[in-house]
Amino acid sequence: MSKRDYYEVLGVAKNASEAELKKAYRRMAMKYHPDRNTGDKESENKFKEAKEAYEVLSDARKRAAYDQFGHAGVDSGAGMGGGGFRGGGGFSDIFEDIFGDVFGGGGGRGGSRAYRGADLRYDLELSLEEAVQGTTVKIRIPVHVECGSCGGSGARKGSEPTICTTCGGAGQVRIQQGFFSVQQTCPHCRGTGRVISDPCPECRGRGRVQEQKTLSVKVPAGVDSGDRIRLSSEGEAGENGGPPGDLYVQIRVREHPIFVRDGADLYCEVPISFVTAALGGELEVPTLNGRVKLRVPAETQTGKLFRIRGKGVRPVRGNSEGDLLCRVVVETPVNLTSRQKELMQELEQTMVEGKGRHDPHSTTWWDNVKQFFKEL
Ligand SMILES: [Zn+2]
Ligand SMILES: [Zn+2]
Repeated sequence: MSKRDYYEVLGVAKNASEAELKKAYRRMAMKYHPDRNTGDKESENKFKEAKEAYEVLSDARKRAAYDQFGHAGVDSGAGMGGGGFRGGGGFSDIFEDIFGDVFGGGGGRGGSRAYRGADLRYDLELSLEEAVQGTTVKIRIPVHVECGSCGGSGARKGSEPTICTTCGGAGQVRIQQGFFSVQQTCPHCRGTGRVISDPCPECRGRGRVQEQKTLSVKVPAGVDSGDRIRLSSEGEAGENGGPPGDLYVQIRVREHPIFVRDGADLYCEVPISFVTAALGGELEVPTLNGRVKLRVPAETQTGKLFRIRGKGVRPVRGNSEGDLLCRVVVETPVNLTSRQKELMQELEQTMVEGKGRHDPHSTTWWDNVKQFFKEL
């Protein structure tokens, strides 16, 4: 089949500018577009011819080759090749390039365009120890994956989806509204450009099936509630060959019976007897990896905070451990024997004789109360 001269096809001069080419192609495309000439073979051929001419002449490199060598210079089989409108790249892309400004651009879903799969979120609960030391956990997530039976096409094995005849595979149809031609999603194929007459029984024509996927998640040491781990490409499968989405593992750390974490520091409460508090002594306090000794000085009051350096947490984005802060809580003795009660009363008697020198807090507290009543 001998080809017509590209300039002739578009009806422009050999030295036509880019704008002139575009304008000419737009005019031809409007006139011969398959949507407006459904089933008209001649229009379709004219449209293809114009499209091919424009594809070559709008590309400076190809145009130069064409000008020098004619069709032989640009025929690499990359033309229409009789394949019709198979969706994908070519047709819809160049069509939007030309008509984007007319139809609002970008909004059109041409052909079977590839879509990136959705991102997924998984809430992962960890113990404080797991979060601080890091761990590897296996999680099961529901995902939509490409149907293995039909390879994602949605058509029964051995058959193939056919090009939608209503939209010619574009996924969009144009309807006339007054002066304007408005682009709409094709009602027949719902924008996919393809029609499945014999759907795959496995996925009921959707091309994707839901599956449980087991993943191994490496949780780095030092993570905290609110952190999230991104697992690239572990989200939902893409559509029409699009890339999969990502999986975000959202961390939540359970409350710990002993420790409360605040960034790099850990807090805990340590009960001590009132005798140890008064005379001083050595306590054993827990840390996340074993016990350590804490020296408590004499006359320690309840609520006093002791800092043990380096026994906190190394945050996931930090390079040194925080501290462990122990708050001592003085305990009032219970279940006293009569002998112990006697000793306490004796002790109390000697303290009264000491006229409050033994109660630093009450002394100032009573002074404040007296001051308060004086000022009333
Ligand atoms: Zn299937
Ligand atoms: Zn359609």
